[in-house]
Amino acid sequence: MLPRIILHLDMNSYFASVEQQANPFLRGKPVGVVATMTPNGCVIASSIEAKAKGIKTGVRVKEARAIDPNVILIPNDSSKYRSCTEGIFRILRQYTEDIEMYSIDEAFLNLTGFVPSYSQAETMAADIRQRIQAEVGDWLRCSMGIAPTRWLAKFGGDTAPKGATLIVHRGNLHQTLDPRPLTDAWGIAHNLERRLNLLNLYSLGDLRRYPVINLMQVFGINGYVLWANVNGIEIPGLRTPEQPKSIGHSHVFSRKAESLDYPKAVLAKLCEKAGRRLRRLDLEAYGVWLSYGVPDWVAARIGRAGGGGGKKLPYALYDTHDIFRHCWQMLLDDLPKRALPNFLAMGLFYLKPRSRQLRLWSSLAPPIDRATSRSWRSLSDDMERGPALAQALDTLNDQFGDFTVARGSFWGLNEKDAPDRVGFRKTVTYDPAADRYVW
Ligand SMILES: [Mg+2]
Repeated sequence: MLPRIILHLDMNSYFASVEQQANPFLRGKPVGVVATMTPNGCVIASSIEAKAKGIKTGVRVKEARAIDPNVILIPNDSSKYRSCTEGIFRILRQYTEDIEMYSIDEAFLNLTGFVPSYSQAETMAADIRQRIQAEVGDWLRCSMGIAPTRWLAKFGGDTAPKGATLIVHRGNLHQTLDPRPLTDAWGIAHNLERRLNLLNLYSLGDLRRYPVINLMQVFGINGYVLWANVNGIEIPGLRTPEQPKSIGHSHVFSRKAESLDYPKAVLAKLCEKAGRRLRRLDLEAYGVWLSYGVPDWVAARIGRAGGGGGKKLPYALYDTHDIFRHCWQMLLDDLPKRALPNFLAMGLFYLKPRSRQLRLWSSLAPPIDRATSRSWRSLSDDMERGPALAQALDTLNDQFGDFTVARGSFWGLNEKDAPDRVGFRKTVTYDPAADRYVW
């Protein structure tokens, strides 16, 4: 039987490297790509030179400038990164058709049957690296991991030295994995690390040798997954890009919220983006989460930096409006009195192919909006018109540009915080109460 061989590829300092590729003046200099060019905006990618100075992903603009006044900060330009990614994936597709595009700069390639051995996989990795530099950009570097499972390949790619390939196979699994700290593992963050420490587990070797039954008593099925991952047992296989596990969007506010109107408009936009993606993939969601952050001075008062919520639902979400009202309710339920967020994130999970089933239970009627004491929309409206209307709006917006048409009364926004203030292009709105379009 041919050995199972999975290759994980991860571009190094991707957005910053693409900027350096595009502009040779930036090469060899500390560069940070930022989400929004405000003092509290986050650096979402820093170049190797910036990382060496301590400007890591996630630091704020003002902190980055304090660490190195000479840091070059650039607003993110997603179309540039996307076109580079297309070039990279075009190369990858020439090696295997079994590819999982994991993110904009990461991919898994199933090489099982395409190469007979790990040494030939390593030769292929070197070839891919050389072609990316020759055909996409000579400043672009990537790390790769090659292993018998998807999880170990990712572990290899994550822990390989920058620009190098790490091979993990049955013969060197223990030696490679065992001395590493728990948080080197994909999926183990500080929270889980603390819980594993309580079981006296401190390294990946400790985890690998721990009785799986004991792990399952504490963590349930996730305990099995943890154990199987570090023991080189494949769990999920490759997921196809057509069906992501979750769909989510987030936004760091570019200005201070004076009331809930601005967060509401931002949330409406995030929900619309997620809803559009959901419908384009012909999926529906049985889970939704929301998370928010608050400014430092509020965090000091309330003792936490943010909050949020998440829930599984007995029925499917499909329409933007349904997604929005769940998220909005979770925000209102969790937000401390008089606090306003400066960051919002939301996501959909438990995604399934669309069943086209209607809701049955009146107890699931839409919640009441606290601010206006009115129901967002009637249940019958939901059942009969919701999906068809959502698709009609999507079709119009696909043809004429995002947010050409949006439901007017749906957002419940004040004029001054109308969605176009956060980037909507509002030319026509649909008023469901009057069942007509408003120009
Ligand atoms: Mg990367």
